Amino acid sequence: MTNIQASDDRKLPARADVVIIGAGIVGAAAAYYLVKQGVSVVLCEKGRVGGEQSSRNWGFVRQQGRDPAEIPMIIESLKLWRGLSAEIGEDVGFKQSGVFYLADDEEQVAAYEDWLEHAKQYQIDTRLMSRRDIDQRLPGATGHWIAALHTPSDGRAEPSLAAPALARVAGRLGVKIFTQCAVRGMETEAGRVSSVVTELGRIRTDTVLCAAGAWSSLFCARHGIILPQLKVRSSVLRTGPAPLVTEHAIWTRDVAFRRRRDGGYTVAHGAATEAPIVPDTLRWMSKFMPAFKAERQRLRLRLDHRFYTELMTPRRWNLDGPSPFEETRVMNPMPSQKILGEAAANLRRLFPQLKDVEIVETWAGMIDVTPDAVPVIAAVAELPGFHLATGFSGHGFGIGPGAGKLAAEMLTGAPSTVDMTPFCLERFFEK
Ligand SMILES: Cc1cc2nc3c(=O)[nH]c(=O)nc-3n(C[C@H](O)[C@H](O)[C@H](O)COP(=O)(O)OP(=O)(O)OC[C@H]3O[C@@H](n4cnc5c(N)ncnc54)[C@H](O)[C@@H]3O)c2cc1C
Repeated sequence: MTNIQASDDRKLPARADVVIIGAGIVGAAAAYYLVKQGVSVVLCEKGRVGGEQSSRNWGFVRQQGRDPAEIPMIIESLKLWRGLSAEIGEDVGFKQSGVFYLADDEEQVAAYEDWLEHAKQYQIDTRLMSRRDIDQRLPGATGHWIAALHTPSDGRAEPSLAAPALARVAGRLGVKIFTQCAVRGMETEAGRVSSVVTELGRIRTDTVLCAAGAWSSLFCARHGIILPQLKVRSSVLRTGPAPLVTEHAIWTRDVAFRRRRDGGYTVAHGAATEAPIVPDTLRWMSKFMPAFKAERQRLRLRLDHRFYTELMTPRRWNLDGPSPFEETRVMNPMPSQKILGEAAANLRRLFPQLKDVEIVETWAGMIDVTPDAVPVIAAVAELPGFHLATGFSGHGFGIGPGAGKLAAEMLTGAPSTVDMTPFCLERFFEK
């Protein structure tokens, strides 16, 4: 994974218009769109740029299957992806290769048909494809699929490239980027944000954007702000160079994969995500219950060391000493070899052209999820000056540039390109 050489002399500026916490794709994109508007920005990252979810994901950039609330934002995001490499002069690996979801039962087909209604409303080129179409597109594949959802205008990008590229260009335009620089918390004056305190010192600012991914809920808790957010673990592998089966990014219940720039594939199980049972699971149980029920077939509950680790993690700390963010520079969970074994076996069985692929790397990422699997991109009413862009619930890479742009518009008060109402924090507390 690429590291960004930060703005170092390691000396923080005394003040900034905006401080962004977290240099994943959302924080990096927000920094880029803000500096383009002449805003002075400091981007603080506790570990390395894109070190967590933003470099560990599958790389699908898709409209299809999204919650309707996110559709305007992903349409905007796709427009940005298409021109991004040329605009910033850096390769982000985007290819409009189409995405294919394969269904093996009528229930899945019915869900795809429902989604076609949204596609129609927004004039997205999604189509339901027949078994014959599947055979034409995926010759030699052995699955008993009965239909597929296909969106030619969807695509894929390279997670290892995109966030670092956005951060680099933001840096060239003047954003001060500090890696290995955890934000411990914020200070207030007259009830609003007046500064952030980092491990390298204090920056005066009246505007903060928390784009801290899976750490956002803990950061909020330090300030008495309630953000219902859980973490689930997803395991991924990559193969060595292998024959080209399809350019489409493919999802089936048994396996999901996409072609990589290096001629291999990024591969994961299509329906096996691990949900560690931690104190937050109990804390947010009632809010997440509908999601647990809806996702029960794909969730594998786990009780392991994480329960104790998170139980022992303080939720309040002093700003003049180390915070939990300094303790884990890069969240690097162990992948589940069992799940990856299933995924690899399914890949080889369903796509026999890949039966000899070599697995060259495995990894995992902790995905931050909200109760309705829709992000929060909003000002926090209880603390003027504090804003959130987080909770992307396993699909924030594709929407990342659009979300960063939206967050930048929110911070500068520019007219928003999409309706922000579905992304407010208050929705979790409405009766
Ligand atoms: C295995 C996996 C597969 C996925 N597949 C897809 C996919 O195919 N398509 C898709 O669209 N999405 C996918 N996602 C989801 C996507 O990766 C995320 O939604 C997206 O990357 C979130 O970006 P982010 O910037 O919000 O968070 P992150 O990338 O997690 O970045 C947050 C950053 O904040 C930093 N940070 C946290 N706290 C502090 C602090 N106090 N001070 C300083 N820095 C801090 C962290 O170190 C981290 O670098 C997947 C995720 C995973 C893990």
